[in-house]
Amino acid sequence: MNCFMCGGVFEDKNAPFMVDIDNRYFIVKNVPSQVCKQCGEVSYNHEIASQTRKLIEEMKRMNNEVVIADFTENTESKKKEMNKNFVETPRSFEVAMDSLVGA
Ligand SMILES: [Zn+2]
Repeated sequence: MNCFMCGGVFEDKNAPFMVDIDNRYFIVKNVPSQVCKQCGEVSYNHEIASQTRKLIEEMKRMNNEVVIADFTENTESKKKEMNKNFVETPRSFEVAMDSLVGA
């Protein structure tokens, strides 16, 4: 596949993805991406994009202004561990539940 911006060649790379939503910043590190060697345009395959979207939904439960997660540590294979982490930090879990109920 060639870059749709410049026609350059993509290379596989783990790159950070950042988005701001409601003045909060969500940063996902090590997202498997295709990065154009020529112009730096980044694209994601469908599966990676949907996993990243799900991960950001999880990150929204945190109460921080800036939330940083590592893609490779938090996607499907690590899901159980992540849920365990939520239980092990009761305070942030309560906050998450409160904000869900309040919504
Ligand atoms: Zn390009």
